[in-house]
Amino acid sequence: MICPRCDDATAFQFFESPEKGAWELYRCPRCFFVWRSTEEEEVIRPDLYDPDFKLNDERIRQMSDKPPIPPLRRQK
Ligand SMILES: [Zn+2]
Repeated sequence: MICPRCDDATAFQFFESPEKGAWELYRCPRCFFVWRSTEEEEVIRPDLYDPDFKLNDERIRQMSDKPPIPPLRRQK
């Protein structure tokens, strides 16, 4: 399975609907994107995913913690 957001080929199915065949959930171990098989084509197809939101190694490296973690207070 190809991740629609980062094009990684190691995405995998990790859950399926209690009613067999209704939907499946997929997850990408590289960018942690999760999607359901019943979402719009623009969400589940890598070639249709909005290019402004695509991720690559450089963009993943530049991500920061949200919310930012402040420095520890000094004990007095
Ligand atoms: Zn991904």
